[in-house]
Amino acid sequence: MPYSKTCPYCGEPLRLNEAEKTAHCDACEAELPPEELLVQREEAVLGLLQERPQKQADRDGFLCENCGAQVIADEADVSSFCCFCGAPAMAPMMLPDTIDPEAVLPFAIDRVQAQDRFAHWFSRKKLIDPGFLHAVRSGRVSGIYVPFWLFDCEIETHLHAVSTATSTLRTDRSEVMTAKDYFHYRAVTADYRSVPVLASEKVNGHLADLLGPFDLTMLVPFDPALMAGFVAERNSLTAQQAFRQVREQLEADSLRAARESILTDAYAQVKTVRHLYKTLRAQYVLMPVWTVNYSRNGFTHQFFMNGQTGKIVGEVPLSLSRTLQWFAGVAAGVAAAGELVWVAVNKLR
Ligand SMILES: [Zn+2]
Ligand SMILES: [Zn+2]
Repeated sequence: MPYSKTCPYCGEPLRLNEAEKTAHCDACEAELPPEELLVQREEAVLGLLQERPQKQADRDGFLCENCGAQVIADEADVSSFCCFCGAPAMAPMMLPDTIDPEAVLPFAIDRVQAQDRFAHWFSRKKLIDPGFLHAVRSGRVSGIYVPFWLFDCEIETHLHAVSTATSTLRTDRSEVMTAKDYFHYRAVTADYRSVPVLASEKVNGHLADLLGPFDLTMLVPFDPALMAGFVAERNSLTAQQAFRQVREQLEADSLRAARESILTDAYAQVKTVRHLYKTLRAQYVLMPVWTVNYSRNGFTHQFFMNGQTGKIVGEVPLSLSRTLQWFAGVAAGVAAAGELVWVAVNKLR
């Protein structure tokens, strides 16, 4: 039986030893159980996500005819303007195949507090356009439940690597250099819990990263009563699409853990890596966000506040006249800097 796999250590073709149920490398004498060479195809990985079918329903919603935002809300809760672009263009529409969230993180900051916090934050920015503060004070602050997917998964990472140690033996007349190859094999299981991926297309992904973390221990089961007074953005990414965005990051992290478990003075060169997903589960949740936006010169500035912690992110709309009062070239900018640091708990077993 032809066997197309190559040896993870030396790259030579492997020979399947059917009697022994192993794959053998004639070049370096490595002996591998065939399951060690198993590769999980993408469809198989994504297929794990379909184990728990999401309930799909048709829901009344509203569409912003200006920016295309789709929100789920009761007639009474939807404001006359779009909470993402500020345009007065909200039209009722039926939203087919809407997923019911499994859990919701309730707002811990109410509307009045949100307005005060925004106003306080803006008042500290010297170069801000005064029209902005007016937008906040006149109540153009909206509470939105932003959709996220939370992924739980267990990844088994199999790593083959080679390191080479050299030693030199010198005598008066000669110098003998010996190189020894060390083959390393590691299998680690990394367990990820509640890795968040934004499922919204109306919230800037970069700002969403800065907005975190959210304390996910405060999630409660979905209850329509929690929606009163707020709108929920409809997810624009399916679980599979969202998982594709985070998969590389998770696998890189798992690989790093496997590499770190190889303790060698020499550089270990990775020969093959395989990631096998033991479990993969997605949970559809809603996170509380206050937003205010302000359009100026055809550009909409969006500001978001974490509805649980009060953290604010956004790009400050500068007042040109105020900026000119400063020296030219004064750089004012993004409110906060940080990185995606709320990626999950990583446990190694
Ligand atoms: Zn070999
Ligand atoms: Zn809009």
